[in-house]
Amino acid sequence: MPKNNTYSLMLHGGAGTLDNVKTQEIIDHYSEQIRVILEKGRSCLLEGGSALDTVTLCASLLEDNELFNAGKGSVLNEDGEVEMDAAIMDGKTLKAGAVASIKNIKNPIKLARSILEECEHVMLIGQGANRFANHFNLEMAPSDYFLTEDRVKQWQAAYQSNRIGLDHDSQDLMEIKYDDKYGTIGAIARDINGNLAAATSTGGLVNKRYGRVGDSPIIGSGVYADNETCAVSCTGYGEDFMRTVLAKTASDLILFKGLDAEMASEQAIAYLRRKVNGRGGLILIDYNGNCAKGFTTNKMIHGWIQHGGNTYCKL
Ligand code: ASP
Repeated sequence: MPKNNTYSLMLHGGAGTLDNVKTQEIIDHYSEQIRVILEKGRSCLLEGGSALDTVTLCASLLEDNELFNAGKGSVLNEDGEVEMDAAIMDGKTLKAGAVASIKNIKNPIKLARSILEECEHVMLIGQGANRFANHFNLEMAPSDYFLTEDRVKQWQAAYQSNRIGLDHDSQDLMEIKYDDKYGTIGAIARDINGNLAAATSTGGLVNKRYGRVGDSPIIGSGVYADNETCAVSCTGYGEDFMRTVLAKTASDLILFKGLDAEMASEQAIAYLRRKVNGRGGLILIDYNGNCAKGFTTNKMIHGWIQHGGNTYCKL
């Protein structure tokens, strides 16, 4: 149902399950963190903040939180280093900013936002992105800021599995990549003026190849926003989302088939499964502010506020 002057907000903290690896206390902690960040996003929207400001705020708070695979909690690549990807999109203008394979930027989403606002290009990578960041006095962080104890242990396990001969894409290594991970982050919002925005930020896959870029910074794959349709943020095995251009596929289901949020997310996920047997999920807010989600993994960490209502969180 259209609700013209209410707001909606959704966050995700990654596809996959915490069941095998986490105690209830830690699961409660995740839930609390999602709720706190949703409430901060709510305040931003209530104070008249735009959808774009709200997703920037929420995504950067998630990046600062080492529970999540983005910013400080980023997973490590095959060299035991952090390389991050992020993107943000404004549904009002279709302007977008993206960064890939960046290092030492405390909040990749803020750099993506600066690109959206100030750059003639949509995506900058590696050292070029860092150089651009220098113009905007974005906060830098030394490499050890990103190297949390958990991430080093997780990487060592993945690295050792790889070394004893498992194929890089074997199911065994995939189990490490997906089920023993904490989760990429995403934030999507609709503000009281009906503007939509989406942000996705990640450290990528555990033990990924040096230089590998996933779906998160690819406009239309891991992130998309268009006021005419919806805002979407994806999480999961990035290559599956790139090959199905899943965020734009979900948007197109609304644009060309007139589906509502629930149906668009259901059909996008069915498409992901049917075409590539993809692993992961998405969150979606349509132009009416309706919230929906879908995933092919056992679970996905996510939370939402629909039409200015209560805060919900599901792990
Ligand atoms: N989609 C991210 C990537 O492939 C990973 C994730 O969502 O956890 O880089």
